[in-house]
Amino acid sequence: MQRRKFLAGAGALSAAALPVAARADGPLIRWRLASSFPKSLDTIFDAANTVAQHVAAATGGRFQIQVFAAGELVPGPGVFDAVREGTVQLGHTSSYYYVGKDPTFAFDTAVPFGLNSRQQTAWMMQGGGMALMRELFRDHGIVNIPCGNTGAQMGGWYRKEIRTLSDLKGLKLRIGGFAGQVMARLGVVPQQLPGSEIYPALEKGVIDAAEWVGPYDDEKLGFNKVARYYYFPGWWEGGPQLSLYINAQEWERLPRDYQAILECACLYAHADMQAAYDVKNPQALKRLILTGTQMRRFSDEIMQAAYKATTALYEETAARNPRFRKVYEPWRKFRNEQIAWFGIAERPFDNFMAVAGEPARK
Ligand code: CA
Repeated sequence: MQRRKFLAGAGALSAAALPVAARADGPLIRWRLASSFPKSLDTIFDAANTVAQHVAAATGGRFQIQVFAAGELVPGPGVFDAVREGTVQLGHTSSYYYVGKDPTFAFDTAVPFGLNSRQQTAWMMQGGGMALMRELFRDHGIVNIPCGNTGAQMGGWYRKEIRTLSDLKGLKLRIGGFAGQVMARLGVVPQQLPGSEIYPALEKGVIDAAEWVGPYDDEKLGFNKVARYYYFPGWWEGGPQLSLYINAQEWERLPRDYQAILECACLYAHADMQAAYDVKNPQALKRLILTGTQMRRFSDEIMQAAYKATTALYEETAARNPRFRKVYEPWRKFRNEQIAWFGIAERPFDNFMAVAGEPARK
């Protein structure tokens, strides 16, 4: 509620409402943005509107961005090519959709047993990740900027309990990308399905399980009505980042102050999305548990086997793909340093609070 009010406020500041343009002499620029997401995935989709509103407000309406949902101009997974080819100047998407082009793109979103959302932001903004990713995108004529993060996702909905590795054998799980490849090594039969097709497939038993996002988005699609067990943690998505893509030629032509304004707007949307999920998810989780959802943690056996399979997959990919290796090696060093540091200051604090805060939550 609070956030809606704020966004309405930000909207009121934009273009039309400003009596004097903040930059009356700036060129009038109209760009189109293709999102990979449907409007129904509101927390992710809205980041593009947040960017557009802030850019318009900061330029007195001189720089306007029109946002299109998945399918309106191009299909969701077509955003990369649409930006590269200049069909649109901007895209809002998840880079791990494009692992078919190069698995290295996954580092711009999330990889199994990777970084949490804070660590991902640290890697991109201060830890050398942005330079590595920009180098990769440059070859495709795209400039990338972090633009949102969901925080750690959930491990998905299962019609039956999954206790041991043998319970994974033959399990039809809706999951994509790198994580699907890891799951396949554990005996799972990964299924690729768009969001809208998951519910009927799960209801009819065409699939046994499905992962999507987290409590807020999963509740909206009603998975709790057709699968009882809700697993965690989503070890393949510890902090998946969304990205804004800009056609590189258009970016070069953009006035410097508009470039700075666009960057600031993205990083505002980046923090705002994480905040929105952190407010919405606990409330949705409470409702799910109250209506009978059974929470289950993946067993150590499964987690350990998944970790081992993931590490093997990284090493094999790095051995045959030099671009992957160039990112993976410094990324792995960064991740391990983060784990050591978070283990000192953050984790003991979180662990203590999880226990000490228990009575207060009841
Ligand atoms: Ca997911």
